[in-house]
Amino acid sequence: MPAPRLRSRSLRKISRKVPGGRTKLHFKKRKPKAAKCGNCGAALKGVPREFPFRMRSMAKTKKRPERPFGGVLCSRCMRQEIIDKIR
Ligand SMILES: [Zn+2]
Repeated sequence: MPAPRLRSRSLRKISRKVPGGRTKLHFKKRKPKAAKCGNCGAALKGVPREFPFRMRSMAKTKKRPERPFGGVLCSRCMRQEIIDKIR
């Protein structure tokens, strides 16, 4: 039986091979949800699903696509936005 603090579904169970050859259950924090498009709610591509401490040490160019509204709108909604602006 795992320790009481680990008896929770909020932690992810990972089986890891230990140096002795046995596999042990490791408990890890779940990653945050994928970033969503501000317009249609689709998961954003090119935006990593990482913890804030890891995002902080990441380069800006690795955190979102380099285009207008990159990391806020999906590419389809961004194109729509630009079309609406021209009209
Ligand atoms: Zn969208």
